[in-house]
Amino acid sequence: MTDLQDKTSLPNCDILISNARLLDREGTWDVALETGKIAAIDRKFVSGAARKIDARGGLVTMSFVDPHFHLDKVLSRDYVGALSYSEAFARAREAKAQFTVADVEARVCAALDLAVAQGLGAIRSQVDVDFATRLVSLEGVLRARERFKNLIDVEIVAFPQEGIVTDPQAPGLLREALSMGIRLIGGLPEFERTLEDQRTHIATVMDIAEKFDARIDMHCDYTDLPQFKTLEMLADMTLERGLQGRVTADHCCALAVYPDDEAARVIEKVKQAEIGVIILPIANLQMLGGEGVTPVNRGSSRAKELLNAGVNVSAGADNMYDIWFRFNRMDPIDTAYMTCLSTGMRTDAEVREAFEMTTSRPARLLGIENYRLDVGGRADLVVHSVSNLVDMLRNIPGRRIHIKNGAVVGGVEASTWSAR
Ligand SMILES: [Zn+2]
Repeated sequence: MTDLQDKTSLPNCDILISNARLLDREGTWDVALETGKIAAIDRKFVSGAARKIDARGGLVTMSFVDPHFHLDKVLSRDYVGALSYSEAFARAREAKAQFTVADVEARVCAALDLAVAQGLGAIRSQVDVDFATRLVSLEGVLRARERFKNLIDVEIVAFPQEGIVTDPQAPGLLREALSMGIRLIGGLPEFERTLEDQRTHIATVMDIAEKFDARIDMHCDYTDLPQFKTLEMLADMTLERGLQGRVTADHCCALAVYPDDEAARVIEKVKQAEIGVIILPIANLQMLGGEGVTPVNRGSSRAKELLNAGVNVSAGADNMYDIWFRFNRMDPIDTAYMTCLSTGMRTDAEVREAFEMTTSRPARLLGIENYRLDVGGRADLVVHSVSNLVDMLRNIPGRRIHIKNGAVVGGVEASTWSAR
């Protein structure tokens, strides 16, 4: 089949979406889905589709991808009550010690229900693997992933939340997690007490990754204190070991407060090391900037400078009602919107970029194949009621239908009323 069909009749398909607006084509289009793929796109089809969806002029996009979330900890805030940011770090292990496999599974399922309803087709989740939760959180997330296997792709990062030098049980548990088939290993080097320990942390993660042929996805400099330099350390060690293209760095908040020349040097190394960067605008808008003062730093690294340097920058949602973060509802449109606010993205091109940071960019980071809204692309789509990206990011209540692998798997029905 060709991209632009000249026929107007199509014998059969699983789903026919009619009257759709597409981001890179003028006018409205019909999109036919068959066996999990986009089978045809044309102005108008006459088809014996098993299911018909009238988009009524709304946008049809690829489904969203969240590259960084902590599924194991969602909805866990009440385990220790409302906390300041510093208390949260001190008491996280207390909360995790109360986790059971069944409880983690139930909380993750509640989060994934929201994710599927709102159009997330794939999510990369950090999952704590440490002395406090051992493999309990991982077991719970694996069970939830199995329950949702036809609805959303869940990729897991084994994450040593309590450090590596500071948690001597972590390396063994991480190896155990990777021998269970987990293909990504995380890290949190700034948690260690000295620069030498930070280096040991990164080296240990890299040793384990190399042994298991795993990729690395590491929290770096989740702080606005300029003395933290773990992103640069990660880039240097990635280059030393020839791990280019196998490493992702998350948060990278300190980069925003370095002097410009220093930031430019680090960005160049990140580019050379082919490190993907993930910003977490929602959580970091709340958590950085000090307690009791109006924050100056907006918590989204140097997203524009990184993009300009050719780095693949994505945006994730990070947390939902957990020990660190009170809010959130798993809606990727919130993430795209907050990306605009926190990074100062205002023009049409920048709004488009913020949307790509929650769709095609994380899809590339996760290595999702055939992720393109074109004939032959995977039928992982969202049918929106709004007709353009600005209205989408305004998150006006409306219809949203989520299609995964060519089947309708979830949606949002919203309405408003007034007495006028
Ligand atoms: Zn995180």
